[in-house]
Amino acid sequence: MVKTYSYAAQTATSPLAPHTFERRNPNADDIQIDILYCGVCHSDLHTARNEWNNTLFPSVPGHEIVGRVTAVGSAVTTFKVGDLAGVGCMVDSCQHCASCAEGEEQYCENGFTGTYNGPVFGGENTFGGYSDKIVVKAKFALHINHDESKLAAVAPLLCAGITTYSPLHHWKVGPGSKVGVVGLGGLGHMAVKIAHAMGAHVVLFTTSPNKREDGLRLGANEVVVSKDEKEMAAQANKLDFILNTVAAPHDLDAFLALLKRDGTMTLVGAPATPHPSPQVFNLIFKRRSLAGSLIGGIQETQEMLDFCAKHNIVSDIEMVAMQDINEAYERMLKGDVKYRFVIDMASLKKQVSAA
Ligand code: NAP
Ligand code: ZN
Repeated sequence: MVKTYSYAAQTATSPLAPHTFERRNPNADDIQIDILYCGVCHSDLHTARNEWNNTLFPSVPGHEIVGRVTAVGSAVTTFKVGDLAGVGCMVDSCQHCASCAEGEEQYCENGFTGTYNGPVFGGENTFGGYSDKIVVKAKFALHINHDESKLAAVAPLLCAGITTYSPLHHWKVGPGSKVGVVGLGGLGHMAVKIAHAMGAHVVLFTTSPNKREDGLRLGANEVVVSKDEKEMAAQANKLDFILNTVAAPHDLDAFLALLKRDGTMTLVGAPATPHPSPQVFNLIFKRRSLAGSLIGGIQETQEMLDFCAKHNIVSDIEMVAMQDINEAYERMLKGDVKYRFVIDMASLKKQVSAA
């Protein structure tokens, strides 16, 4: 077994703290990765605090993992020791249902295995990237083609990047489309960058007037403060597609009314309590759709990483030490992060070697 050092929540109300556990020795189809950086997703916080009522404790969050391969199983041909590798939100799926066959493992009909918090439909818990190493099936690991000096800022692409790329791609955003992005957090800022690189006209909707300049810098063509009724009214019936990344319940009608006929608003934000139900008339009068989207498949994640490498896209990050994770969570709740925290895992390794 592989002794692994991590930070874990032991209960929904306890702060994350040092925790040791064992990972399996690499099987023939596994690789072992020395984790260098791990992004901090709002889903980590939802999970550590059991906000979705499904957390298995102890909980080691983290699904924006990048690092270096330190061992490969005998059957692995796609990675070698010394390669950079990434791990996102999934580490396994059934591999034989229709969704898996189509490369949509996130919709696996038998339940994919999350990188943390275990198989969605039961089974043993899994432990994520707030740790010094991970053992994972090579099939679920990603290749990183970005310049190595940007590695820390690549980490958030493994969740925030794919969760926004996948719906933008699925709903065929591109030149000529007018796209709304709601919320400028970890996911939202990646959505702005990616939709801009896809050639769309991007309108950012934010509750934070002080993010206006950043929105424009990141690639938005227009920034709308969603609390301002006049600014909102000016966008009515104008948008082809809206990607809503907000992590809290809010009035969806305010945004549905901005869609053109046949437009779609896709929710990726996953608040702990439901949104108020939208007005049916807001949908039927213009044949609008309200949809959802979950991360992205493994092949699509590689495609997204390659797209971002080609377009020189990484996340805007603030590096934190593992020991500062609880403070980082409090700041994320206040929207005080520009725009993704990334844990420098050297801080954990230093703590372990000093002990
Ligand atoms: P984040 O960095 O905290 O960003 C959320 C943003 O939502 C905030 O920056 C804020 O932007 C906006 N917001 C507006 N009102 C808010 C409120 N009352 N409370 C909190 N945020 C508010 O979070 P994230 O990491 O981007 O994740 C966003 C959501 O997506 C989370 O619920 C997460 O669990 C979910 N998620 C879903 C998937 C999926 O597959 N569907 C994958 C990853 C994450 P402004 O200041 O601009 O208004
Ligand atoms: Zn995530």
